[in-house]
Amino acid sequence: MASSASGLDEPMERLHREWREVVQARRIVVKIGSNLLTGGGEGLRPDWIAARAQEIVALMATGRRVVVVTSGAVAAGRPLLKLNRPLASVQEKQAAAAAGQGVLMRHYEEAFDTLGVHVAQALLTRDDVENRQRYLNARDTLKTLLELGLVPIVNENDTVMTDQLKFGDNDTLSANVADLVDADLLILLSDIDGLYDSNPRIDPSARFIPLVERVTPEIESMAGGVGSLVGKGGMATKIKAARMAARSGCRMVLTSGFRKDPISEVFAATPVGTLFLGLENPLPARKRWIVNARVGRGEILLDAGASAALLQGKSLLAKGITDVLGDFSRGAVVHCQSPDGQQVAKGIVNYNSGDLACIAGRHSRQFEGVLGYLGAEEVIHRDNLVLTRELRVSASIQQE
Ligand code: GLU
Repeated sequence: MASSASGLDEPMERLHREWREVVQARRIVVKIGSNLLTGGGEGLRPDWIAARAQEIVALMATGRRVVVVTSGAVAAGRPLLKLNRPLASVQEKQAAAAAGQGVLMRHYEEAFDTLGVHVAQALLTRDDVENRQRYLNARDTLKTLLELGLVPIVNENDTVMTDQLKFGDNDTLSANVADLVDADLLILLSDIDGLYDSNPRIDPSARFIPLVERVTPEIESMAGGVGSLVGKGGMATKIKAARMAARSGCRMVLTSGFRKDPISEVFAATPVGTLFLGLENPLPARKRWIVNARVGRGEILLDAGASAALLQGKSLLAKGITDVLGDFSRGAVVHCQSPDGQQVAKGIVNYNSGDLACIAGRHSRQFEGVLGYLGAEEVIHRDNLVLTRELRVSASIQQE
């Protein structure tokens, strides 16, 4: 391997260079898993939580802002149900989460209050980030809390969630929160010390990977199947979180929460865990939301001229629309298809499907006569459009 003037191997030098940026992070999301909170036993460990609160308050004293995404509601609630057996149904898990969330918050409250810092609970669901208005509200509230010097403590709102509407695991939730608050660093505290090229618990020759520049299919294959390693989703959900964080331009450090000072150590000069880099030119927040948004049952078919205009960065006008498929309301996110059947863009539409069908192929001068009201000139404004090409560049997008 090539050695440089610093005496470090080239990849190591790159890692150290990138780590200097990690240390500079100002807005940080720390994700804490259940195994750490319970230490493998019943109930939560208040001392462990108190020690993490100390680390976080020390970071805040340097002007940094921190959001905690925490698991542990189910783990804290389970003993309170007094079942003396594992939880058997979704309802029992939701009941445990309902019973345990308060206990979990009490521990965080006590730990931070002692240090003169207040916490604020935020329970989110996937709906909250997929619905544009709720997404904006959640974003504003979290940012306001950070500006006011509180520590938001976020968990999934397990009690009301159905499987279809879940984030499902707190790794995914934490990457969504990092995106919401424009974090520059996401720290996943786990019970494994980073990424290996195979499962180190069964393969003694597993190689540690200190730096991931991009989440490629090869990196994904290292995660193995869901649940192959630790936590609720195993390594797969951690890689998925890294992919999403990268798309927001946010770095992610996966490190062991069993280390002595797992959070402070990230801000020391020596790299710990695995560092996943973020995209250098992330899409703006509005476009990122569109990328993540679920597409309703609707599609807009374009003529060749409109497809070409979109690719040149123009807005979508009704004139270039040949057909409207499916049923959608104004403000929905829909796909746009070129005449050769390719999906060219995804965007927020200014008309519902019924009205759009009436104005398709027409000039905006005719809108008022046809619809009885004067709507927007653009069917999808270019600020509300993400080209499929941009999705690919982001490299990490799960398209519907
Ligand atoms: N939200 C769950 C809880 O608080 C945990 C989900 C996870 O650990 O990924 O118990």
